[in-house]
Amino acid sequence: MMQHGQPTRAWKRRGAGSLAHAKEEATMSTTFTSEPQIPMAPTVARLGVPLIAQAPELRPVIQLDHTHKTYTMGDVEVHALRGISLKINKGEFVAIMGASGSGKSTTMNIIGCLDRPTRGKYVLDGEDVSEMSKDERADIRCQKIGFVFQGFNLLSRTSALENVELPMLYAGVDGPARHERAMDALASVGLTGREQNHSNQLSGGQQQRVAVARALVNDPALILADEPTGNLDSRTSVEVMEIFQRLNRERGITLVLVTHEPDIASYASRVIVFKDGKIKKDSTVAKPRVAAEELRKMPAVVDDEDED
Ligand code: ADP
Ligand code: MG
Repeated sequence: MMQHGQPTRAWKRRGAGSLAHAKEEATMSTTFTSEPQIPMAPTVARLGVPLIAQAPELRPVIQLDHTHKTYTMGDVEVHALRGISLKINKGEFVAIMGASGSGKSTTMNIIGCLDRPTRGKYVLDGEDVSEMSKDERADIRCQKIGFVFQGFNLLSRTSALENVELPMLYAGVDGPARHERAMDALASVGLTGREQNHSNQLSGGQQQRVAVARALVNDPALILADEPTGNLDSRTSVEVMEIFQRLNRERGITLVLVTHEPDIASYASRVIVFKDGKIKKDSTVAKPRVAAEELRKMPAVVDDEDED
């Protein structure tokens, strides 16, 4: 599943089997790497809310202010971010693009509270994350952020339902509510009837939909997706974009997605291009492509698992 390498684990085990360890693992303590991504599991939503189109509000969910990140390797300093200032309001759908090594994953790690800036501030949904401890960041991550990765990062011999329930377990949601919210989340990504399938019995597109359901289930302020369509064929990619557009439009969920593909970026309403650790271009897309319309134009592909 991982195409180019092993994930970087940014955490230390606190004792296998402990809840603290499990929680950390599940809320995602892996970092986005320039190669392959990791996994994680986080939050979801109150999926019973009425689906009413919501316009972006002028309330910043993400504020980066002259943010720098410098990695020190021996006596060499790598300036991964050289002063990023960025404001993303609630309800925006942002695509981040840029050459390999331009600082996209470093930015996602900071936005996702997996790492801290070396210099400069990061405010997430009104809370200053720059000065938080690792534990505080783990908590805020669990409450406010859902992650979707290129490699899906589901537990493989575990049902779709249990994968989606996991972040709620860590958030302390009781059993019946977990079940109901997970069922709702799976329905919202079109997986009703697949709840009991193990993730290794699902196609790539279905697995990514389970991952999106998992990301939703703690009602996050923000969903972060690093190359979420990187392992999917073109139609399945558009299906995933259709889900993202719907969640953004109907639930007002703020989305930030990294992609190499201009086609995929064209579904977002704002595109930010990184170059050499800085923002090179930040533009609003007047008319983002509508994934639901693209799907209507595409021939349906029936795969083996879906012949019912
Ligand atoms: P992108 O995701 O755009 O490909 P990254 O944010 O992964 O870029 O990397 C930006 C720069 O920081 C690159 O030069 C990369 O080699 C370097 N870098 C990223 N992570 C680390 C790390 N953990 N240690 C040292 N250098 C790193
Ligand atoms: Mg990267």
